Amino acid sequence: MTVLFASDLDQTLIYSRNSMGIEVKAEELIEVERFEGKPQSFMTEQSQSALWELEPNTVFVPVTTRTREQYERVTGIYEGSEPPQFAIISNGAVILENGEPIKEWSTDIRRRCVDEKTVIEELLPVIQQYFNEDWVLRVRQAEDWFVYLIVDREKFPEEKIGFYTKIFRKIGWGMSLQGRKLYFMPESITKAAAMEYVRDRIKADYVIAAGDSLLDLDLLESADAGLLAAHGEAVRADAEVSDHIIVTEEQGIKAGEEILAKVADLSLQSK
Ligand SMILES: [Mg+2]
Repeated sequence: MTVLFASDLDQTLIYSRNSMGIEVKAEELIEVERFEGKPQSFMTEQSQSALWELEPNTVFVPVTTRTREQYERVTGIYEGSEPPQFAIISNGAVILENGEPIKEWSTDIRRRCVDEKTVIEELLPVIQQYFNEDWVLRVRQAEDWFVYLIVDREKFPEEKIGFYTKIFRKIGWGMSLQGRKLYFMPESITKAAAMEYVRDRIKADYVIAAGDSLLDLDLLESADAGLLAAHGEAVRADAEVSDHIIVTEEQGIKAGEEILAKVADLSLQSK
């Protein structure tokens, strides 16, 4: 019996200082990302050993919206230095197999984006039309796949997110607000589809998924069991979820520990 643990990284398994939620003693923290010379993301020691101990009974596949460059900065989620057999990045637009992108997968996603006209060139003018606002600090492209704005959260009008969501959904783009990033994601780029591909490839019998944001919901819905972090965007947005998805009791970095403990239990139960 093969169990797949498909999990989001940021604010699910790894946390920045700002997203930890509580003070954690320095000696309990393990740095898992360094950016521009500074420690950027962490796990607790407990989470790291729980994650490592899942193997070899459970196959862990990271499923992140990070681009390849951003993903490759993350260390310490695997014991040893070999790349994992599979990692899902760019929100599912890219699947790495032994550290290298599967070309046919991304070509197929590209074709679907072109067919549905959800390409960045079509999106940018609409963004300019609606987001000529002082709280938009920067507009960033994640390779050729999607766009995110860096926003000033102090000035950001949270009450307008529903209005914007409707406008962009009409032209085939989903939206997600995570920290200072406001994502615009083509509907054909999903974590779930990439996870299904990996599920077939490794012939997994049972899938446990974990996440925190609206971009994780499709992944959790298509898994057999889903774990949703209580502090995340999806819970705050009051998103409706199926019965196989449970919300953590803990918040912040402690939710990460709770998720990994539950994965170990579920994984044992399913055997
Ligand atoms: Mg996340």
